[in-house]
Amino acid sequence: MLESTLTELYCPRTGTTYEADKIHTLSDVGGPLYSRYDLETAATNWQEGAGLTNRPAGLWRYADILPVRDPHFRLTLGEGGTPLLSAPRVGKRVGVANLLLKDEGINPTGSFKARGLCIAVSRAVELGIDSLAIPTAGNAGGAMAAYAARAGATATVYMPDDAPGEFVDECEGFGAKVVRVAGLITDAGAQLANDKKAGGFFSVATLKEPYRVEGKKTMGIELVEQMGWKLPDAIIYPTGGGTGLVGMWKAFDELEAMGCIGAERPRMIAVQSTGCAPVIRAFEAGDKSVQPWTDAQTVADGLRVPMMVGDQEILRALRESSGTAIAVPDEETMEFVHHLGTDEGIYGSPEDGATLAAIPHLLARSDLDKDETVVSFLTGNGYKYRSGMKRFITENTAQEVSTARIES
Ligand SMILES: *Cc1c(COP(=O)(O)O)cnc(C)c1O
Repeated sequence: MLESTLTELYCPRTGTTYEADKIHTLSDVGGPLYSRYDLETAATNWQEGAGLTNRPAGLWRYADILPVRDPHFRLTLGEGGTPLLSAPRVGKRVGVANLLLKDEGINPTGSFKARGLCIAVSRAVELGIDSLAIPTAGNAGGAMAAYAARAGATATVYMPDDAPGEFVDECEGFGAKVVRVAGLITDAGAQLANDKKAGGFFSVATLKEPYRVEGKKTMGIELVEQMGWKLPDAIIYPTGGGTGLVGMWKAFDELEAMGCIGAERPRMIAVQSTGCAPVIRAFEAGDKSVQPWTDAQTVADGLRVPMMVGDQEILRALRESSGTAIAVPDEETMEFVHHLGTDEGIYGSPEDGATLAAIPHLLARSDLDKDETVVSFLTGNGYKYRSGMKRFITENTAQEVSTARIES
């Protein structure tokens, strides 16, 4: 049996440590909490005997550096183990010879949110919680509801009232109660906080509990393992709450401490929409934290996040990696959703389109070189966005957007 080597939690801003096996939310200074592991023991596990070779594919193959102790609580729906695909056609189109796509859209519930919520729900239930709630732009709600159902726990999902109906249907399909809130994910979060006492639930909002980030870090581990313990030159990541970006950044430090990689790091590149680009604004201004974006609007629901808990950690990862941040307009995003489908056979989400649309701009700015190895994260599946994408096309009929695939 693979034991978790979790030792304690810590605040990355102050270094203060917290007992691991108690229920926690934020750190004393209002930042996220990170998990610390006995990486020496984990490294020995990985190096001795069969190491990782005989472990099952998927996220739990890294169980010794994940926080769930009792295997009985390790929920699975088949998350992780997603393909790293070469993308010669769309690569040629954007101007990068060696473009790789990490296709997270094939995860359970159609997005990489499955990774974070798999771990967060498993750990919450292990710690005795049986009622969970989440504010979501869409995908996180479906993932949370699915794992809650799997665990026999109760789920309440707070979602903006204009989120595509597919997201609501999915949550209800898993038996969750859906509360639709006027406004954005931040308004949904405020409503959740307001209902918390009466609701008697535990919130698994992005980075407001310690373990979603642990699930998302497995994208970084998996990527490095798939590349033969090498790193790409750059990682392009559609950034909303930033959990995946900071999770991968944490994973690389852990892999270095375990002797799996050296001190090299990929440049981390955050992509947002011009309709909601708080991280880009803060990055360009040289700020250490993010200011809330007003009137956030984008077809990429996962990027419609005007403010986030992990802002300092996101900005730190971008700067420490010599990376950058870039916003792309929705029109270009939708063009690349189309190209992703016709060039590569992947029915992507708008977030996926955004990461690809960013590449020509990054090349023009010399933030990427055409000969570099570039990994774009495709974070969501397009199927759940059908009505949202159609609505966008209808409202933007004057735009020269290729709509053939979406309307078919
Ligand atoms: C939530 C979401 C994002 C943003 O993810 P973070 O890790 O919170 O930045 C990107 N793409 C999709 C499809 C999402 O659902």
